[in-house]
Amino acid sequence: MAIKRCRAVQFVTVPLLIAFGAAAACTPARDQEADSRPPTRGQVIPALPFDHILTYDELTTLLRDWAAARPDICEVGTVGTSPGGRELWFVTITNKATGPAIEKPALLVDGNMHALEWTGGVAALNFIWRIVRDYDTDERIRRLVDTRAVYVLPRASPDGVEATLRQGRIVRSVLRPDPGGAPVPGLRMGDIDGDGQVVFMRFRDPSGPWKVHPGEPRLLVAREPDEAGGEYWRVVPEGTIPGYDGDTITVPPALEGLDFGIFFPDDRDLLPPGGAPGPDANLVPEVAAYVAAIRARPNIVAHVTCHSFGGGILTPPVNPTEPMPPSDGQAYAAMGEKAAALMNYDVMSYLDLRAGQRLEVHISTEIGWMYNALGIYSFITEFWNPLRAAGIALKGRMSLWLGGLHPVEDELRLLRWNDEALGGKGFVAWHAFDHPQLGPVEIGGWDKVHYWYNVPFDRLEQEVAPHADWLIFLALSSPRLEIRAFSAEPMEKDDWRVRLVVENSGWLPTSVSQQALDRKIVGGVVAELALPPGARPVDGDLRREIGQLTGRSEQRSTATWWGYSPGTPERAVVEWRVVAPAGAKISVTASHARAGTARASLLLQRARAR
Ligand SMILES: [Zn+2]
Repeated sequence: MAIKRCRAVQFVTVPLLIAFGAAAACTPARDQEADSRPPTRGQVIPALPFDHILTYDELTTLLRDWAAARPDICEVGTVGTSPGGRELWFVTITNKATGPAIEKPALLVDGNMHALEWTGGVAALNFIWRIVRDYDTDERIRRLVDTRAVYVLPRASPDGVEATLRQGRIVRSVLRPDPGGAPVPGLRMGDIDGDGQVVFMRFRDPSGPWKVHPGEPRLLVAREPDEAGGEYWRVVPEGTIPGYDGDTITVPPALEGLDFGIFFPDDRDLLPPGGAPGPDANLVPEVAAYVAAIRARPNIVAHVTCHSFGGGILTPPVNPTEPMPPSDGQAYAAMGEKAAALMNYDVMSYLDLRAGQRLEVHISTEIGWMYNALGIYSFITEFWNPLRAAGIALKGRMSLWLGGLHPVEDELRLLRWNDEALGGKGFVAWHAFDHPQLGPVEIGGWDKVHYWYNVPFDRLEQEVAPHADWLIFLALSSPRLEIRAFSAEPMEKDDWRVRLVVENSGWLPTSVSQQALDRKIVGGVVAELALPPGARPVDGDLRREIGQLTGRSEQRSTATWWGYSPGTPERAVVEWRVVAPAGAKISVTASHARAGTARASLLLQRARAR
């Protein structure tokens, strides 16, 4: 497989006004035509290339260039270092002039938790690119960056992605043995004919389960239950079989099958009776570092992990033991509907996806940890559906199709799609090869790396583009604490009545989810008055607990009394009596870990007598 290594950089520019004050100049190679939009003078923001997957070095350069071009809103940090010595780049986006990220509700996005699922990593990068590119011109992006924060871990497994780029084969998360597993003998996948691709091997076997389709010699179809006497085949992944005994072949879980997703902390309270928790995050340094970074940011209210493939959005619950309060289910549905509308993807729970599987097996996941233990709305996006691209109308769940429960006609259609739409590049023609253990075999089959796990490069940008719109929508759906009014009324002498009105101007409640309330993992709004020296409160504390404020998420319909909450449940008033000299400056801070921090101050002034 020829993975392109060229560095294709396009440019757009930001207006001079914004570029003024940019800290560092970036000097990318000017080897491509400029972006189609009219150029303006200013700091150059290099475009995200869609014609190849960035190497780690290219990724590092691009992120630094973006941050250098927009230091006012974009910062590149790291949450740790991989065992391969690569940084886990972590991008923070917010308008620094309107407050630090930690004081704003935040959306967290990650990509390449699974190494080969490049499309997910590109989608995470595209979100950053979209924001830094359009901040000046897109009202929604400006509002997002001015009032919220975005965190992006674009490449959760830099070692794994680098391995897939170098070896061109399926690697789950990283090329490292599962710390909990012992090596198992059997077939080792690899490129044995040296064409750069790792596909499949087929060889004749009188008791084999496959036969060649009569009208399509590339296609192997199942031998009939009562069939004998024909030419039959066996199919295994391309690779070698150390210690082959001449009769039996086992295909063990790949050495590189380590899956970061199962190392996120389980909520142990939700394990089924006798159920075992997933493995410890500390066994995987990348996951441990990411988990620590998430725990250090209690302002995260929503999360999306970007994967491929499937063309769907997955939500909790993952396991049947995980409760979801109805209001959370409704919020998830509303957010999922938006995704479905923008991307034409299916939205379903992970548990629904498991239909037909053994549900008593507990599955540990990143989204399960985020929602169950942290009360954060967490989603998996599975980009790209090759079946849909080939015009196959799925009659049931895609998981059933992938399990082989589909008509042969679908597979013929896929091959026609390869020939017509992909120019034949998606399916490697079967070709003879003399295998060191098996003897004569044929090597060929679907290029799963480029056409199944990932959207082809020529369709990549259009596939991920609407996802950025959904992420903007999600971030803007978060709660947002604001000060509606802050005033002081003179009572007598130096006695003042100070009044604060706070409100949640966001869609979600300040608690974000009922799950967070039920599990007592989120505190309420706190208002705290700051007085100058010599001033003092007359009654009560300067610090007041306000509790939670609702958002608009449960205001669904005025058709009945049940679809909305009348009044102003998103608003609260706090009053203090203070003694302070006229002319003194008093300040207030209203804060909530998830809904953000708002500040106001005023000068104590008596109305002038007429
Ligand atoms: Zn994945």
